[in-house]
Amino acid sequence: MTTRTYNLAVVGYGGMGSYHVDHLLKSNPQIHVKGIFDIKQERNDVALSKVLQVYECLDALLSDKSIHIVLIATPNDVHKEIAIKALKAHKHVVCEKPVTIYARDLEEIMTVAEETGQVFMVHQNRRWDEDFLTVKKIYNEKMTGEIFHIESRVHGANGIPGDWRHLKKNGGGMVLDWGVHLLDQLLFMIHSPVTSVYANLSYVLGDEVDDGFQTYLTFANGITALVEVGTTNFISLPRWYLKGTEGTAIIEDWGLNGKIVKQNKDIIASAPKPIKAGQGLTKTMAPPSEEATTMVNLPAASVLSQDFYDNLVSVIEGRTEAIVKNHEVLRVLKLMEIIFESAEKNEVVKTSL
Ligand code: NAD
Repeated sequence: MTTRTYNLAVVGYGGMGSYHVDHLLKSNPQIHVKGIFDIKQERNDVALSKVLQVYECLDALLSDKSIHIVLIATPNDVHKEIAIKALKAHKHVVCEKPVTIYARDLEEIMTVAEETGQVFMVHQNRRWDEDFLTVKKIYNEKMTGEIFHIESRVHGANGIPGDWRHLKKNGGGMVLDWGVHLLDQLLFMIHSPVTSVYANLSYVLGDEVDDGFQTYLTFANGITALVEVGTTNFISLPRWYLKGTEGTAIIEDWGLNGKIVKQNKDIIASAPKPIKAGQGLTKTMAPPSEEATTMVNLPAASVLSQDFYDNLVSVIEGRTEAIVKNHEVLRVLKLMEIIFESAEKNEVVKTSL
């Protein structure tokens, strides 16, 4: 069987656009990167130095009939306009996250994708992160019993990066930048509606957009989740903390340092010895007796069936369904809108998302 190849062009050849070209697309033999369009001359110069074709405008790129796939890696506010134009020019489209700033804009894109019959896929690449896939394995295989509480955090100390991420009009801020990843991971893993949301946003750096946030989610199946992004944390809390009916798991970082501590269900353990704690005495907060728990290493992460671009090609060829489905991405955008609403009102928002 001969395999078809597809020419891809990048719109927005900045940090992430070039990461796709230099790393993510390198391992896919079916996709050939042909050229780019960027509004900055310096980025065009970089592209030329890498023997990529540089288009003088978006229309020139879209009217090149040899281009089959367009990758959009511009600031967030222009994703929608470029996506709709590219779909109407009969290109398949990959779009960086957050796909759009508002849910209604993704709905418009989805309508055009349906009308044109072109594939539209959002690069929610953190579904493939090993730390997340380890959590997914612990969750699915009930390695700490039924998980009832999840904490998912990313902490940095470098403030909001770059230029456009500081601005509302470009879709800046940390809910849209990192929140979209952490929320997407949770909704991809927990198959239950979100029933309530409380959130507060942080503005300690004085930007017009949030430099971090915390949100507390409740799912219909009873699971609660705390999702937190910080850019002013000079000491980081662990990436993941999971509480289950039979144990606790912690994943410290992307290097997968962590452990699971399991309760020894079948052993009648002796009562914990009271400890002196501060100016008092406690048995409640004392470590469990030695025979009460066992420490185990984190399991090997589960794997998704294909990587992002292999999946894209299979979807274009009608062989599989998308791993990142547009209706799932839409749900995350709707959840982010509720997060903004809750923070603005300083209230819990009930939902059935
Ligand atoms: P960046 O500023 O480094 O690059 C954006 C590029 O787009 C710049 O070169 C800019 O000149 C160009 N540009 C701006 N407006 C344009 C237009 N109308 N047409 C063509 N080019 C235009 O930003 P970045 O960090 O690469 O982010 C780009 C996108 O990638 C954002 O949506 C961001 O959220 C996403 N991103 C995703 C990940 C991920 O892990 N999935 C990581 C980083 C960024």
